[in-house]
Amino acid sequence: MTREKSTQLFAEAQKYIPGGVNSPVRAFKSVGGNPVYIAKGEGSRIFDVDGNSYIDYIGSWGPLILGHAHPRVLAAITEVAALGTSFGAPTERETEMAKLVCELVPSVEVVRMVNSGTEATMSALRLARGYTKRNKIMKFEGCYHGHADSLLIKAGSGVATLGLPDSPGVPEGTALNTITVPYNDLDSVKLAFETFGDDLAAVIVEPIGGNMGVVPPLPGFLEGLREITAKYGTLLIFDEVMTGFRVALGGAQQLYGITPDLTTMGKVIGGGLPVGAYGGKREIMQQIAPAGPIYQAGTLSGNPLAMAAGLTTLQELSKPGVYEHLEKLSARLGEGLAENARKLGIPHTMNRVGSMVCLFFTDTPVINYETAKTADLERFSAYFSYMLEEGVMLPPSQFEGMFVSLAHTEEDIERTIEASYRAMQKTLK
Ligand code: PLP
Repeated sequence: MTREKSTQLFAEAQKYIPGGVNSPVRAFKSVGGNPVYIAKGEGSRIFDVDGNSYIDYIGSWGPLILGHAHPRVLAAITEVAALGTSFGAPTERETEMAKLVCELVPSVEVVRMVNSGTEATMSALRLARGYTKRNKIMKFEGCYHGHADSLLIKAGSGVATLGLPDSPGVPEGTALNTITVPYNDLDSVKLAFETFGDDLAAVIVEPIGGNMGVVPPLPGFLEGLREITAKYGTLLIFDEVMTGFRVALGGAQQLYGITPDLTTMGKVIGGGLPVGAYGGKREIMQQIAPAGPIYQAGTLSGNPLAMAAGLTTLQELSKPGVYEHLEKLSARLGEGLAENARKLGIPHTMNRVGSMVCLFFTDTPVINYETAKTADLERFSAYFSYMLEEGVMLPPSQFEGMFVSLAHTEEDIERTIEASYRAMQKTLK
């Protein structure tokens, strides 16, 4: 498999774009090699500019639960585009979309559309701070909520600690207002609440960790968060940018039966176009301008094309049997990959919730960022490259899950499992 044209395009891009890419993980830095330039996608496959094809498990990092270039989504976008691409004035489809989201996610009584997951979490935090009149927020180590200043913070150690900026450019003052604790660790949460609880506006959490590989919540973790936040008058924000409409039609909150105060959404809700959303209790959401005093706006928010793509995607997902089918495909993939590792004697942990699938190269149970970091990253890089040669596109990082889509066929899954055996075997040498 040659990727000469991709290499040339990357060299050219680096002259004009920082690092050659418009979002860091695309550069393949953690696995080595050059990024693959994509020419087109179709169903479960992507095709690069050198004419190679791959079974794709990145799915645009989550949005493409229906697969690439889904005919109904394309038709909806094309039809709407012909009528004009943006008005900066309300359209009927926005209400249709909001109504559907409120129906599918019962904790969401009112919803505001934005243009990315980052905007959604950033706006939800402002709302939480404005509503509670408190300054601090709590997040979990290894959870990613987009690149807004107050969320780009990691924990210093295993116990509750004052955050330090994770990226140059995040002011220390901002970092001081973000308390970071280990995922799945209620004792640390309780400790932090004892110290900071009265000034905590919100706890924001990925109800299934999806940015340190895939890390499901331990039994009682989300329940514990719900309880302690209610006790202290702190808002509980579920960041369902990744899990929303993916692990169930009603998201992780439906799967685990927990009702957050606010929910942030993105990815699937936009059907492959730039969309995010945040919503929740009416009483809280009514604080947003122009209903209330907390400001948040967007030139392209509720964009007609994005609404058309998102609405069509959600309608497709509302059809009976969809999630059962995804579960069946994903379960087979998870079992097949784990079985290969077992047969080859490779230390591994398979974490999976629905179509979020992650094979960690460690035999330590992965329950938080610390344990995720025990994975053999060198082995992952080699495995990633061998899989690429096999025509399988994995996310280029051990700390990202594979996304199964409805476009994947049973044959795709079997081919992936076979390829993974050969790829894992090569990592033994
Ligand atoms: N929240 C979560 C859980 C995410 O996984 C991401 C992106 O990966 C974001 C927020 C940020 O979304 P976006 O990249 O659309 O800004």
